[in-house]
Amino acid sequence: MIDKYKRNINYLRISLTDRCNLRCRYCMPEEGVVPKLNHEDILRFEQILKIIKASSLIGINKIRYTGGEPLIMNGIDNLIYETSSIEGIEDISITTNGILLCDAAGDLKKAGLNRVNISLDTLNEKKFNSITRGGDLNKVIQAIEKCISLGYSPVKINVVLLKGINDDEIQDFINLTLDMPIHVRFIELMPMGTAVDLYKDENIKCDEIIKNFTVLEHITNEKSSTAELYKLPDAKGLVGFIRPISCKFCSSCNRIRLTSTGTIKPCLHSKQEYDIKPYIENEENLILLLKKIILSKPVEHHLEAGISSSEKMMYEIGG
Ligand code: SAM
Ligand code: SF4
Repeated sequence: MIDKYKRNINYLRISLTDRCNLRCRYCMPEEGVVPKLNHEDILRFEQILKIIKASSLIGINKIRYTGGEPLIMNGIDNLIYETSSIEGIEDISITTNGILLCDAAGDLKKAGLNRVNISLDTLNEKKFNSITRGGDLNKVIQAIEKCISLGYSPVKINVVLLKGINDDEIQDFINLTLDMPIHVRFIELMPMGTAVDLYKDENIKCDEIIKNFTVLEHITNEKSSTAELYKLPDAKGLVGFIRPISCKFCSSCNRIRLTSTGTIKPCLHSKQEYDIKPYIENEENLILLLKKIILSKPVEHHLEAGISSSEKMMYEIGG
């Protein structure tokens, strides 16, 4: 469906849970999510499938499952299988921290998962353990290798840039693309939730990297892709830069977001949020509401003000 600003909204991102098996310092408080949501407050998979079905009737054809950590959800392979059976859904992906992915990747592929984005901010074991407050880097590396061997394409690696923490590894990440058919995507830290306090000292703009790595060749990127793509000469993979702060991509934004409690956010960084739970059982009314929500999508975010206006945290929305 085309919104008020002539953007074709065809992409629904779904946060399956606000819980996670890691505690990345820029995303979650150390103690985890408090208070914990009640089971009945979280959308059931049958409800999510009804929302996807209604969305597909107004032009949504891409689905991404995220979280919290989507792979802690039992039965996600069945959810993906059911999603792939909905007419009109052409692309299903997940964003995951990769900890549980190595074992799950084969079944998820059989179920119909097309693509994976794996978050990885460092290639150093100790640093990984410290950034994620307890994660095991080897599990993520094994998951990346497994996904490549299973033929997921492209496997995307999301690296949040953190000054003084991982900026000494930018070259190492870029070099991974020489031999691996992956997209390494550097993401600017966004000032929301626990990241607000870190932002002043740790944010790095992608422009600084692009300026320093002149060997990277610019590649034209698809419209509505959030990443600007580059390539090392003769590399198997690509390098992407996601610049929500230094270079807004709002004018080509094609997405809306469903949270695990059944609200839709038409913009990641806006306060606007609509509770669609009461409408799920009536497809006609649900479609009317979804259309209204898409028409209310703001023209752009205002992150440049230094703080996100979202009242939800990143782990509740899914990025
Ligand atoms: N747990 C999964 C994961 O880590 O991939 C999915 C959810 S996580 C919220 C989605 C993405 O948001 C991850 O790539 C994570 O690094 C990113 N993220 C979280 N907080 C962020 C922030 N303040 N700024 C930029 N990216 C952030
Ligand atoms: Fe969990 Fe992902 Fe947030 Fe890290 S970024 S705490 S893995 S939800």
